[in-house]
Amino acid sequence: MRVALCVVIATSLLGVRTDITAQRAPIAPFVRSFVRVDTNVLALTNVRVIDGTGAAPREGQTVIVRDGKIAAMGNQIAIPAGAQVMDLNGKSVMPGMVMVHEHLFYPTGPGVYANLAESFSRLYLAGGVTSMRTGGNMNGFGDIAIAAAIARGEKAGPWIDATAPYLDGPGLNFGQVRVLKDSADARHQVEYWANEGATSFKAYMNITRDELRAATTAAHRLGLKVTGHLCSVTYREAIAAGIDNLEHGFFAMNDFVPNKKLDKCSARGGAAQTTVAALDPNSSEVQAIFQALIAKKITVTSTLTIFETFTPGRPMGAGLDMLLPQLREEYEQRYAATSKQMQSIYTKLFPVGMAMERAFVRAGGTLVVGTDPTGGGGLVPGYSNQRALELLVDAGFTPLEAIRIGTLNGATYLGRHATVGSLTVGKQADFLVIDGNPAAQIGDIRKIRMVFKQGVGYDPMAIRESVKGKAGLY
Ligand SMILES: [Zn+2]
Repeated sequence: MRVALCVVIATSLLGVRTDITAQRAPIAPFVRSFVRVDTNVLALTNVRVIDGTGAAPREGQTVIVRDGKIAAMGNQIAIPAGAQVMDLNGKSVMPGMVMVHEHLFYPTGPGVYANLAESFSRLYLAGGVTSMRTGGNMNGFGDIAIAAAIARGEKAGPWIDATAPYLDGPGLNFGQVRVLKDSADARHQVEYWANEGATSFKAYMNITRDELRAATTAAHRLGLKVTGHLCSVTYREAIAAGIDNLEHGFFAMNDFVPNKKLDKCSARGGAAQTTVAALDPNSSEVQAIFQALIAKKITVTSTLTIFETFTPGRPMGAGLDMLLPQLREEYEQRYAATSKQMQSIYTKLFPVGMAMERAFVRAGGTLVVGTDPTGGGGLVPGYSNQRALELLVDAGFTPLEAIRIGTLNGATYLGRHATVGSLTVGKQADFLVIDGNPAAQIGDIRKIRMVFKQGVGYDPMAIRESVKGKAGLY
């Protein structure tokens, strides 16, 4: 205790005390029930460092965490007096995941999406996600409110870039989604929600080109970004309209739909699936789209996890025991039904979609990743994010590339790469302690033993235990 106090005083006098402690709000008692490590100076010893940049792992490292930041890292680092030491022999550390297509809602009935901000934000943290963007919002102020509560230390969860409610035109008929009237309305929605605290925007399947252009112009004026799950607007039209990011890899690309009507979504997106399934990633027309995206630095989000749930013959997702028993049963029935649909377009589309993402990066494009726990259910946050990295490896990326896509690439897109996304001296101590080596065996990502956010170590099992059987209620 005395030593720790000395450290604080000494660093204060030197004027190098970081402001992280000041920024980090006090942790509320309920959140503290998940905390296992919270100290001013922590030394991790004998650990394998996977830094998130794609560099080869470094063995036998010492990592010093001081006041929530990485203060030193290497194989010749002295352990400061008074530091709490964790010997991590045989274990790895990697950055906390930065995932960009997450949701705080889940399908709980026909066309109904329950706001699960509380349970899902906990599950994301337990699964190793320390920063995330929600990729669309069905519940008004829900995402904004939980993001703020987490930042205040009142709730357990990742740092959240909270999206506004979807920007969509007529056609979806979801009671929770407001329908845009015109481009002036799109601009108004962006300005209104930004004023209310939303920090990003999601264009949806029935937006028009003019509305998308109005939304990106308004968002960019505020220093914010717009992504889209598109159908009415093609990828090329979205590029022209100033979009920053495209969701769902190339699964939602309508550019090759024959006789597509301007500003209209054909067959609720089904038309795109058929045409994309027939594409060759190396063809000149696909490569031309890649180059058009790359020229404008437009990032593409891989969401293979959600498409896996539509594809017959794929394994059932992990973590279903977190769901309310009724929701779990409903999903298991759906899984059994999907398994029998061997004529599904996804048997062809899923491998092509994977190959498109791999080819896009090979051509020079930037991929980020998210998990999209929506559709017909079955994706449980946290577990889904671990699966997302496994699926990137299935798609042909090396484990180190998959880790980079799920960490530094996400942080870079969010403009937070100076703070998080890689294990670098001076960055925030957001990292995962893993019992194994995910750089060699990506499946080891499932063996997360502790999740550190701003230097505080959370017990993932305790967090999951708090949600088990109840995700669906809150
Ligand atoms: Zn989504």
